[in-house]
Amino acid sequence: MVDFEFSEDEIRFRDSVREFAKRYIEPKWIEIDDQGKIPMELIKKIADQGLFAIPVPEEYGGMGGTMVMAALAVEEIAYHDPAVAIAVYTLLQNGWPLALALFGQEEAKMEILPKVASGDAFFGIGSTEPQGGSDVAGNKTVAKKVGDKWVISGEKAFISGVREIQELPEGGGFFLVAKTEKPGWSHTRITDFAVLPKWNGKIREEWKPTVYEEIGRHGLSTGGFTLENFEVDDKYRIGEVNKGFYLVLQGFNIARILVAAATIGSARWALDKAKEWLTTRKLFQGRPIASFEGVSFRYAELYTKVEAAKYFVYKAAWMTDNTYLTKSPRFKPQDLNLPVAMAKMMGPTTATEVYTEVLKWFGAYGYTKECSAHRGWLGTFSYTIGAEGAQNIMKYIIARDTLGSDAVRNVWVKEE
Ligand SMILES: Cc1cc2nc3c(=O)[nH]c(=O)nc-3n(C[C@H](O)[C@H](O)[C@H](O)COP(=O)(O)OP(=O)(O)OC[C@H]3O[C@@H](n4cnc5c(N)ncnc54)[C@H](O)[C@@H]3O)c2cc1C
Repeated sequence: MVDFEFSEDEIRFRDSVREFAKRYIEPKWIEIDDQGKIPMELIKKIADQGLFAIPVPEEYGGMGGTMVMAALAVEEIAYHDPAVAIAVYTLLQNGWPLALALFGQEEAKMEILPKVASGDAFFGIGSTEPQGGSDVAGNKTVAKKVGDKWVISGEKAFISGVREIQELPEGGGFFLVAKTEKPGWSHTRITDFAVLPKWNGKIREEWKPTVYEEIGRHGLSTGGFTLENFEVDDKYRIGEVNKGFYLVLQGFNIARILVAAATIGSARWALDKAKEWLTTRKLFQGRPIASFEGVSFRYAELYTKVEAAKYFVYKAAWMTDNTYLTKSPRFKPQDLNLPVAMAKMMGPTTATEVYTEVLKWFGAYGYTKECSAHRGWLGTFSYTIGAEGAQNIMKYIIARDTLGSDAVRNVWVKEE
């Protein structure tokens, strides 16, 4: 049976997030974008509202909710923080904790996830390296087994949350991708680890972080770091040795849905702001500019694209719930590749298109800092560039899964 309605529980949940975001996020988002920091008290408040680890089971401190609920929460937060820093922080604290809950070892899950759910620690993704994030199999960070420990060395770049880890009371870390055994291009030599550079309030010296200066999304940091002989207990290994490539790609699928949800929330805000302007700005003998078809038809197109992007997000979220949470035999993890890539391709691209038009509708005012729409433009654009995968990689996945991998084989080269 096809049913395009959210359940009553989902609507109640969405409304409660909306109310929360209106009260605690909307009045602060511009200040946060200017100051370049989400206040720690706000992170705690979001955690207290139960908005981190939503789809993580209750025994690990999560809400025991669903990915549909996580997407609703992220979309609502982005609507009230269109620069998306708080939305991205929230999406990372839902997506990667769920990946750890699905693939991690019991002891590590019990230790890490409750602290993430309570807002005392951060758990993000550490995949990208300076030589190129799209090529996960080309990762150069090496993990060697020495006795009963793993010793990890390498460099990661463009990683969200590097500063927040240092500031949060407990700290936190990443779902980190490393090359096991001999380096070289291979997707069969990758193992994932929960790497915690700051834990129980203590920063490890073998971790050297830097933070970059970015053009948007200022509230959440992006940085790089090196790991030099960073020792990790085997309990922090995520999944089987040399199977990490397949697991991190599943984690990317989960996180990409929430990325698309964030960009849709921000685009909805931009369209609502535009609606106020288009219906009240009057020109040519008192006609609202919405009365010019050059404007209203473009609004209609963009409104439709945002709605379409929303369908992709909630279908992919629903499929994820069926795959991992209720474990429906109808879905396998690889079935998510296509719907998720379409959602991640549509969301950020649509948001960028919306902002490019909305800024023009505001006329010269749109080019001033007083008009806050540029903040959403720059924030959502980060997801057109990269962050959980570049747009071309989404197109590659869609082409591969529709035309067939033999026809589009451009990235699979021989193992070194
Ligand atoms: C704000 C922000 C936050 C981020 N946070 C994180 C994070 O928390 N953790 C993390 O691990 N990473 C993070 N990233 C990194 C992000 O995931 C990468 O930017 C992304 O994977 C692309 O890698 P790259 O930037 O090195 O570009 P490259 O991989 O070098 O790609 C450069 C260009 O080439 C294109 N390209 C590459 N390969 C192909 C191909 N086979 N076919 C067609 N085109 C191709 C890409 O589309 C891109 O346009 C973040 C990035 C940003 C901007």
